[in-house]
Amino acid sequence: MNHEQWIEEILGAARVQGLERHLRAFPNVGGHVEIDGRSLLNFASNDYLGLATHPHVVAASQKALLSHGAGAAASRLVSGTLCLHEDLEERLAEFKGYPSALAFGSGYMANVGVLTALAPDHVFADRLSHASLIDGIVLSRARLHRFRHNDVEHLERLLSKYPSERGVIVVESVYSMDGDIAPLVELAELAQRYGVTLMVDEAHSTGIMGEQGRGLVSQLGLEDQVHVSMGTMSKALGGYGGFIACSARIRNLCVNRARAFIYTTAMPPSVAGAALGALDVLRDEPELGTTLLKRCARFREALRALGFDTMQTETQIVPVVVGANEAALDMARAMAAEGILVAAIRPPTVPAGMARLRFSVTLTHSDEDLDRTVDVLANVGRKHGLISS
Ligand SMILES: *Cc1c(COP(=O)(O)O)cnc(C)c1O
Repeated sequence: MNHEQWIEEILGAARVQGLERHLRAFPNVGGHVEIDGRSLLNFASNDYLGLATHPHVVAASQKALLSHGAGAAASRLVSGTLCLHEDLEERLAEFKGYPSALAFGSGYMANVGVLTALAPDHVFADRLSHASLIDGIVLSRARLHRFRHNDVEHLERLLSKYPSERGVIVVESVYSMDGDIAPLVELAELAQRYGVTLMVDEAHSTGIMGEQGRGLVSQLGLEDQVHVSMGTMSKALGGYGGFIACSARIRNLCVNRARAFIYTTAMPPSVAGAALGALDVLRDEPELGTTLLKRCARFREALRALGFDTMQTETQIVPVVVGANEAALDMARAMAAEGILVAAIRPPTVPAGMARLRFSVTLTHSDEDLDRTVDVLANVGRKHGLISS
């Protein structure tokens, strides 16, 4: 068998399960996209606040590009650290309410970097943890214990069964496929009681929750109990790049040991500039996140009233459970035919039998857009027997 043949076997196996993935090019970003001369409502974007195309963010990025050039020209520890990076890290630390922050090339790299630098003996991770967290844990060579989603009692049983000198609890503040929120107060209490480190991935709460969108950790005043608050500039901040907010010592550890930080070129000036611009917008328009969450509450309640299963979501991520992979794909296609673009999320991203449509609601969707989406989904859902008429 040559490589083309065995590769085709791998792809074919995914295809028969309705799991083969395809790339699709879009002409623009935003809540409305033009495809084949038609305008579609885009619910598959993480640009929650519309900052990717915000004039101030674009101008800040352009300014950094024109003053510094296209690339940082070296890794951070060589000569790639620009004053711009330090400005950004100071702003991120202040934004998150921590003594320090460290920027990484992406959120994926931030998670891999900090977990490998910490090199824990045991990691206790929520079962729904993002792939970047799992990859970081695997690469750190820690022993991984997964607890049932948001199940603090199950976590406690694992913590008492596996006493650890260098243990880390890994959770997200908002889960990316379910839209629900972690019980951070209880988790912080457990971490303290068992003397382990608590790391929270705030990818989907940064920019949205808390004062000025500082995140859930800030909203709950848990900065002292959450030792590593990871965030990304690629979702609500509309740009690219990841970061951790932490103590000066954890930052120093990452500078010395995080290979995903050390062995890669520093973030381009335009990317750092965009992030600084996004932080300006959050400071100047502090109500953006709250406005979005209010709009989402209305949308979610309308779907629940129709009988859809939207799980435990309380955020801008609104899942509609379908079940079978093919049914989720069919429904996404039917929605697209009606001008509504929504992702069909299938295993392994979500558990088998839990395929779903995942609506990412953004500020660029008006109340009228959301009302129309509810109407269209009601029709499609009835046709597919998901809700009764
Ligand atoms: C998107 C995401 C990441 C990765 O961030 P990127 O900046 O896109 O690499 C990490 N964790 C969670 C929970 C995410 O949703």
